[in-house]
Amino acid sequence: MVENLIGGRWSRPSGEVLPIYQPATADVIDEVPLSGGNDVDAAVGAATAAYPAWAATPLTDRVGLMFRYKALLDQHLEELAALVTRHHGKTLDEARGEMRRGIEVVEFACGAPTLLQGRTLRQATSGVDQDLYRFPVGVVAGISPFNFPVMIPLWMFPLALVAGNTFVLKPSERTPIGAARLAELLLEAGVPPGVLNVIHGARSTAEALISHPGVQAVSFVGSEAAARHVYEIAASRHKRVQALGGAKNHMVVMPDADLDQAVPAVLSSAFGNAGERCLAGSVAVAVGAVASDLVEQLEKGAHNLVVGPGDQPGVDMGPLVRAEHRDWVVSCIERGLSEGAGLVVDGRAYAERQGFFLGPTVLDGISPDMALAREEIFGPVLCISRAANIDDAIDQVNAGKLGNMAVVFTSSGRTARTFRERAEVGMVGVNVGVAQPFAFYPFSGWKGSFFGDLHVQGSDGIDFYTRKKMVVSKW
Ligand code: NAD
Repeated sequence: MVENLIGGRWSRPSGEVLPIYQPATADVIDEVPLSGGNDVDAAVGAATAAYPAWAATPLTDRVGLMFRYKALLDQHLEELAALVTRHHGKTLDEARGEMRRGIEVVEFACGAPTLLQGRTLRQATSGVDQDLYRFPVGVVAGISPFNFPVMIPLWMFPLALVAGNTFVLKPSERTPIGAARLAELLLEAGVPPGVLNVIHGARSTAEALISHPGVQAVSFVGSEAAARHVYEIAASRHKRVQALGGAKNHMVVMPDADLDQAVPAVLSSAFGNAGERCLAGSVAVAVGAVASDLVEQLEKGAHNLVVGPGDQPGVDMGPLVRAEHRDWVVSCIERGLSEGAGLVVDGRAYAERQGFFLGPTVLDGISPDMALAREEIFGPVLCISRAANIDDAIDQVNAGKLGNMAVVFTSSGRTARTFRERAEVGMVGVNVGVAQPFAFYPFSGWKGSFFGDLHVQGSDGIDFYTRKKMVVSKW
């Protein structure tokens, strides 16, 4: 069974457990404990006890840990990717990509001697100097979703630790194995006991952790409703919080787009990771005369995608994470059809297979008033809507409550610029299907896709995990 890591020791809390599945076969492969309030107290207590010494550890030592960790992650990349594929379902190539994006954050954390520097102004007034220092925040809690079992924990604890904080991570109860292995490797790299703690559980464990008085900051990634709830709990207790929520991403295809470039990018955005990612393109907005060619090519491309177990060569799309989630995605397709959508590609027959499969599905004729145009589906369903021009397309992008990512395919710099200026989202793609910034830039959405101020990664990540102190001196 997956175990908690508290104060450098692995332990198995007694009480309720949940099964962990292999989505490609529907087999139960392990169990995850649902930790209670006492376990949360113990984890926060261990992080609190470790904090003073860790915050006082020379930066060169903390950075040395990150360099050793990065080397171990590289060395174990294939093993970790296989773990992710086994209990999440995504293809091995997607799992390798996830690992590489996570390792990027560790590489970024290795730059801490530059990133954590303060600022100095001598002789601000006569004989007065002013200096800005960065201090850690204290004990940080991280709560991660199921869809990136290693990358999202790696968004969180490497930057927090290198800045001198201690950490309690609560991974997703559906995919907790990747985080457990990440913690083992950090111990192997030499992290002192209590600096990183891992506690398993579901909603109630997360709530106990977020509201714990010993936790000073909360980093959360998950669905919109949970992110809003976490933000409210943490902020009302005066904690620092960043809560990244769900997404409904539009991909606008202009009549002047290069379809040889746009069609594969739209397909890969919609069906990569089986649509279970916050940067998945969900609605393709066909502008003007491009519609008939676009629909025809998307139909052909979606038909050609190979669905199967993620560890088999040649497979483009693995299963969904759980049978209930697959059934929910099927219910979204059925609701869309009942609201008048047209069925271009039907993936529902795959749901009959052993495992939690669903084939790529393409629905045409989506209008902004349909639920399919507004609500996150988080599965392999590509909806197509029509727009008369770029203004109409941007109105569709901006109509919903979420604002994670939006992309435009065009050969016009002017259209791209208009789109960049007016799309109400945190991440914009131009001729790119998945606009994921590298680790040295902030990552997050706008509107209901994000609650808080400072995004994850990049300079925002450093600001989130540090407190600034000003010293004004006169000699
Ligand atoms: P989820 O909200 O069900 O769970 C996420 C985490 O929060 C889990 O660890 C879970 O145990 C915990 N949790 C669930 N409900 C909670 C609550 N009410 N209070 C406190 N903790 C709670 O999300 P999921 O299904 O694991 O992940 C998919 C969702 O995450 C999608 O909506 C997706 O868009 C979103 N996501 C967003 C980003 C982003 O960068 N914005 C990245 C990845 C995933």
